[in-house]
Amino acid sequence: MALPFVNKILGLFSHDIGIDLGTANTLVWVSGKGIVIREPSVVARHKKSKEILAIGTSAKKMLGRTPATIETIRPLRHGVIADFDATAAMLGHYIRKVHESGGVLPKIPRPRVVIGIPSGVTEVERRAVAEAAVSAGAREAHLIEEPMAAAIGAGLPIEEPEGIFVVDIGGGTSEIAVISLGGIVLGRSVRIAGDEMDEAIVSYVRLKYSLLLGQPTAEEVKIGIASGVPPEKEKFAVVRGRDLETGLPKSVKLASSEIREALAPILREIISAVSDSLEETPPELVSDIMEKGIVMAGGGSLLPGIDKIVAEETKMPVWIAPDPLTCVVRGCAKLLEDRRLLAKIRVSRSF
Ligand code: ADP
Ligand code: MG
Repeated sequence: MALPFVNKILGLFSHDIGIDLGTANTLVWVSGKGIVIREPSVVARHKKSKEILAIGTSAKKMLGRTPATIETIRPLRHGVIADFDATAAMLGHYIRKVHESGGVLPKIPRPRVVIGIPSGVTEVERRAVAEAAVSAGAREAHLIEEPMAAAIGAGLPIEEPEGIFVVDIGGGTSEIAVISLGGIVLGRSVRIAGDEMDEAIVSYVRLKYSLLLGQPTAEEVKIGIASGVPPEKEKFAVVRGRDLETGLPKSVKLASSEIREALAPILREIISAVSDSLEETPPELVSDIMEKGIVMAGGGSLLPGIDKIVAEETKMPVWIAPDPLTCVVRGCAKLLEDRRLLAKIRVSRSF
């Protein structure tokens, strides 16, 4: 009986924490402070002893640069938990970092935590993630699915009896969901997103120029000059890599039209997943979506012109959520302020 009351009093002093545990990026929001951490979801560790050496930005710098004794892992790379220990280490690191930065005040009460995770993470893994958050110091940990969090973060009326169609293109997965009455009517997670775009650029450059690029370089090119539709002005990027014939370093100037060609098959696959989902959507909801449009979120939606291509192919209006990279964490933040809604839509929890 007294517990809710005690929790309420504690809540007045504690920091609530929202976490977007993405395949590419982890974002952390703290009540009263806003988004305090934005780092890549990467862990570097010693191969044999499994000792964690770096997490986040410092670990990403090691990607492709490690000696044989060190491995860099993207724990959620394909939208499933590839390595639970690394996932738990990353989550625990951020929760402790935020929780312990309070200064000299006692680390009581412990925070409430809401975590957005890719929808492909299994039930068993979700529970394990929630428990990992509790063992890192959370008083309560609630998990919600990424597209639902994105919709809430985008300010969409998810509890209304009307269809909402969300496409969240992240690093490892594109998550598609049709939401109505606070629930996911239809969800789809495909492993074709930003990482695949980077890989498509690597293969394109290898085939056309026999030049081997690293993934981080390919990602830079994508963010710098890629576009889904012909841009007003052609852009260029000079890249350096290894010539596969001579084995020597070589640089090549790439044009945005080449990158568009390289990315076209990836965009087609994402769009066909969107179209398939639309085909499976109940007709009443389709008519809502025709009116309200498809909402895009995630880093992949920043690709210039992607909204135009999706609109053309699906014949639906399409709009990009404001600040698409932070939608999920802002959705988690909103749920921390609305316990009723949180209880309704969470997919797993731990106390
Ligand atoms: P996740 O939720 O899976 O962690 P994010 O939503 O953080 O993923 O998006 C990360 C992906 O978005 C990466 O593949 C990154 O390269 C891509 N990205 C970021 N900015 C852009 C941009 N301007 N154009 C195209 N892709 C982008
Ligand atoms: Mg995401």
